[in-house]
Amino acid sequence: MPRAGKYLPERTCVACRKPAAKSELVRLVRCSDQNLVVDAGGRLPGRGAYVCRSGQCLASGVRSGQLERALRIKLDDAARQALCGPANKEVSC
Ligand SMILES: [Zn+2]
Repeated sequence: MPRAGKYLPERTCVACRKPAAKSELVRLVRCSDQNLVVDAGGRLPGRGAYVCRSGQCLASGVRSGQLERALRIKLDDAARQALCGPANKEVSC
């Protein structure tokens, strides 16, 4: 273990509730009432939630509704499929 000299900001994955460094998580941002985008650069404005990079937590967070609760949005089926899809393609506003 390296010495904890530097402060590393930690965020909690909304699906598995495990804290991890920001660099190990994907940020999702609510960019309008019903739109969710993957914030690849980590600098989009708006309410954000974090999930693990694996993609599994994104899918389970969407499926279980945890992501919607965290961001206070309601995703429709198309949006859910876009987020849960195996291709994990870019979602845009
Ligand atoms: Zn997770």
